[in-house]
Amino acid sequence: MRSFIYVESANHFPIQNLPYGVFLREGKSNEPRVGVAIGEYILDLSVLEKEGYFNETPIQNEKVFSECSLNKFMSKGHEAWQAVRNVLQKVLHEDEPKLRDNQPLREQAFVLQKDATMLLPVEIGDYTDFYASKEHAANVGTMFRGKENALMPNWTHLPVGYHGRASSVVVSGTDFHRPQGQVKPADATTPIFTPCRQLDFELEMGCFVGPGNDLGEPVSVDNAEENIFGLVLVNDWSARDIQAWEYQPLGPFLAKNFATSISPWVVPLAALEPFRVAGPKQEPKPLPYLQTSKPDSYDIKLEVYIQGDKMEKRQLLATSNYKHLYWSIAQQVAHHTITGCNLNAGDLLASGTISGPDKESRGSLLEIAWRGTEPVELENGEQRSWIEDGDELTITGWCDGDGYRVGFGEVKGRVLPAKENLLGSSKQEKVTAHS
Ligand code: CA
Repeated sequence: MRSFIYVESANHFPIQNLPYGVFLREGKSNEPRVGVAIGEYILDLSVLEKEGYFNETPIQNEKVFSECSLNKFMSKGHEAWQAVRNVLQKVLHEDEPKLRDNQPLREQAFVLQKDATMLLPVEIGDYTDFYASKEHAANVGTMFRGKENALMPNWTHLPVGYHGRASSVVVSGTDFHRPQGQVKPADATTPIFTPCRQLDFELEMGCFVGPGNDLGEPVSVDNAEENIFGLVLVNDWSARDIQAWEYQPLGPFLAKNFATSISPWVVPLAALEPFRVAGPKQEPKPLPYLQTSKPDSYDIKLEVYIQGDKMEKRQLLATSNYKHLYWSIAQQVAHHTITGCNLNAGDLLASGTISGPDKESRGSLLEIAWRGTEPVELENGEQRSWIEDGDELTITGWCDGDGYRVGFGEVKGRVLPAKENLLGSSKQEKVTAHS
């Protein structure tokens, strides 16, 4: 299948993908619109909607694409998403003249991605962060508790997760200041107030919930995927030193609430279908409500790059794959809702750090530099145990098809120095004195 819009074989956005995003056109209008990426372009769906292109679908007579988020479209459900996707794949097909030969409409409907600003695509009500990679959980457990107790006894029986913070989820390209907080150095008896000294990234992917479920009505593991609109790349920034002091007994709080970056294009599950694979064998067998009847993971190649402000180009830091995750999206949704908890359109469920079996596939600096004991050598002679001011992290991911790629683009974020006004010495003494 090919589009009349030229797409290079390594481009992430061929007609087989068609991810959704929300964008602003440069100059012309400041109204956000929903579009799909195709090659170097964005197809503005609000234009097609006005022209009646979706009149034969379940969203007929509704304006869902002149919106500042995907939420309205996401809430319409699986059948509506598939119907719109069918229209788009037909309209963009190289043999279909309707849009291809309508030059005035093409000029309105297509925007070069470089002439647009991508916005946060979803209004995120709730954000849940899982811990679904066995290799990541085992690496972290080994560092903090020793090899014998690497995995907690619950880990192989349920997808461990916690309720995160939705308000600080930001779109790729949003820089943020190094967080500050309470830290207790190993040789101190009381904590100090300081800029985070162990800032880290986490290579993750996240899925967005579609229509969701009513309070009191769990989603079964077999129906879970119909509730998922699509996937994005996630960098779940983490302050490891703040986390180490604060996390017991209720888990991470400030260590994870200052920034979580996501990629702007939401890749529909339908586009990932050709890349469906089985996840790792689950032993022991999960309880019946978590048992799945078909392969429920995806072969998505993942890469992480770092570029410090003294580096001329970015350097590869890690390579991993989504298929390494032990707990699948379907299992996460089934587990999340088994109590009757309601998920809403726009909720984000992140996977947790995706580490693989090799040293090269570790998905955080905590693991790559093994808690500071094996610093990473950078090409310009610098070393990294943790992320430094000015460092930009980029995560990219894609599926390899036959002569094409279904990709996620990138999620980027750069760390700025801590804000100075929080560091008054009197404030610092106060915090120390009261602890
Ligand atoms: Ca995380």
